[in-house]
Amino acid sequence: MRLVIMGPPGAGKGTQAVVIAEAIGVPHISTGDIFRANVSAGTPLGVQAKAFMDAGEYVPDDVTNAMVRDRLAEADCGGGFLLDGYPRTLEQVGELDSMLSSAEVGVEKVIELTVDVDEVVNRLMGRSAEQGRSDDGEDVIRRRLEVYFESTAPLTALYAKRGLLVQVSGMGVVEDVSGRVLAALGVTP
Ligand code: AMP
Repeated sequence: MRLVIMGPPGAGKGTQAVVIAEAIGVPHISTGDIFRANVSAGTPLGVQAKAFMDAGEYVPDDVTNAMVRDRLAEADCGGGFLLDGYPRTLEQVGELDSMLSSAEVGVEKVIELTVDVDEVVNRLMGRSAEQGRSDDGEDVIRRRLEVYFESTAPLTALYAKRGLLVQVSGMGVVEDVSGRVLAALGVTP
């Protein structure tokens, strides 16, 4: 299965993506995780991405697209994948379409985790305290939400038009949410 998971920062997308990818047996590709690994390792990509991440802004499309293109070309993606945090802009949707159309295999489903925004802010504040992520200060959290609603939320309408969107409530405990997602995908856990 070739899947995308979307949702505002703090919707629990990363946690769900791990569970879902494992249940389906496809690689979990998180652009945020790849960027963070590069930041920790001090690679040129990490150096480039860090300032954007710390400000709650998106890393430029050309940088992100090239990184995803390389990752999807790896052998383990041949049987499908779960993209977590990509695409996030209309330009990235176009790029993903072109990456996949050359192999004549498009995205099959786009899962949107829906949450209430106050709950999201609380989750992010909690995570900030636990993990000390440098992009989880209060101002940055607000900016990340703004950027999501400006640039990424509109993609759901586009995927809905294509008949690919599956909306699942991201509220509640992890197992309940993953149960709903897997049921919506027709996968028995
Ligand atoms: P995430 O862990 O998915 O919330 O991503 C953390 C940060 O990485 C984001 O706030 C962005 O700065 C950057 N990032 C991750 N994915 C993308 C993307 N598809 N496009 C641009 N920036 C991204």
